[in-house]
Amino acid sequence: MHTEPCARRIPTCNNAGMDQDRLDTVILGQGLAGSALAWHLVRAGERVCVIDDGHASAASMVAAGLINPLAGMRFNRRPELHDWLNAAEAWYTELEHFCGHRFWHPRPMLRLFRSAEQRRFYQRQREDPGSRDLLGEAFAADRCPEPIHAPHGGFIQHRTGYIDLPALLGCLRDWLKTEGHLLEHHLSADQIDCHGRGVVLPDLYAKRLVFCDGARLGLNPWFNHLPLAPNKGEILDLADSEWRPRHIINGACWLVPLETGGLRLGATHTHHRVDDRPTTEGRQTLLQCLANLLPNARPAHVIQHRAGVRPGTPDRYPLIGPHPKHSQLWVFNGLGARGALLAPWYAQRLCAHYQSDAPLPAEADSQRFAGATRC
Ligand SMILES: Cc1cc2nc3c(=O)[nH]c(=O)nc-3n(C[C@H](O)[C@H](O)[C@H](O)COP(=O)(O)OP(=O)(O)OC[C@H]3O[C@@H](n4cnc5c(N)ncnc54)[C@H](O)[C@@H]3O)c2cc1C
Repeated sequence: MHTEPCARRIPTCNNAGMDQDRLDTVILGQGLAGSALAWHLVRAGERVCVIDDGHASAASMVAAGLINPLAGMRFNRRPELHDWLNAAEAWYTELEHFCGHRFWHPRPMLRLFRSAEQRRFYQRQREDPGSRDLLGEAFAADRCPEPIHAPHGGFIQHRTGYIDLPALLGCLRDWLKTEGHLLEHHLSADQIDCHGRGVVLPDLYAKRLVFCDGARLGLNPWFNHLPLAPNKGEILDLADSEWRPRHIINGACWLVPLETGGLRLGATHTHHRVDDRPTTEGRQTLLQCLANLLPNARPAHVIQHRAGVRPGTPDRYPLIGPHPKHSQLWVFNGLGARGALLAPWYAQRLCAHYQSDAPLPAEADSQRFAGATRC
């Protein structure tokens, strides 16, 4: 096992009994959750080490990174939405300055109604003052701003766009490595020992360990009592065609014009088979959806086909909190299909909890599933 970077810069577990040599936080996983948490904790002055196995199962490296504030068939607004949006926009902008690279690509989103009923949901949301800034005017089928088949019409949604997550995670990984905060290896559950005043890992001793292990939480014996609802998704990258949309298009599937050229088409949702292997069935589903949008277009040229597993939860809120018996073990997970929107705000809240005992956001507190505890 290679432990050089963290071991050289920060204390090791050779003297695990000595408080002055204890790390504050070890984070397992450098996906979006682990990266956002590490950023805030290091900035707050904590001694942090992130362990990651080279993104072996990272949904964050597959995701389109869409920011879609009113996701879902009814365009419902969650009460926390504006906190999420403000935190996300601020954090991605801050990282762009830090890394000298553009990750955040704001772009209006064309939402296509899939039925007449959906138009009524839209009209209801337009009456909500908290959603009004997000919902543009509706258009009829023959007034669609893009040359696509939109039989029920739609509307333009604002404060949308996408985050280039692989580039963002790459920049943060370089930063963690340079600062000596990253160990690149796999950590298995049986290497974790709960010591009276902290947690002992091979070569490390810390006050706490936070699991940011994405969909692998379901296999994690420390937290597998939590009801993760993993959801497999497949995604295609397409070569540029003669037509390039000005909007992100979101109907039965979505289509994103990438800043680097080409289009991204996604995504499938499968709950019954949750591995990260691309399938012929997934590819056909997506290409059929594209053909429905563009019935007269030439067949798309697929450049890349990927799959990953979203760490979903039954109520679509994250899972944040300590283990019911071992208070040095924590979970920050359950970002589901909207990690790009949620991770910045909840990482900030968890950091505030560690730093100043601020309450955990009730809607994301893993205690809400206390009844499900099996350990
Ligand atoms: C096809 C698809 C499309 C998506 N599109 C969007 C979208 O448009 N917008 C959006 O917001 N979200 C989207 N998502 C969801 C998004 O990917 C997740 O919300 C988010 O990436 C979850 O981040 P995470 O850090 O919790 O988990 P992950 O990204 O899975 O990161 C977990 C990390 O932990 C590591 N790890 C786990 N166990 C260990 C171990 N024992 N030892 C060492 N390392 C370990 C993994 O290798 C990985 O690097 C999509 C997901 C998929 C699959």
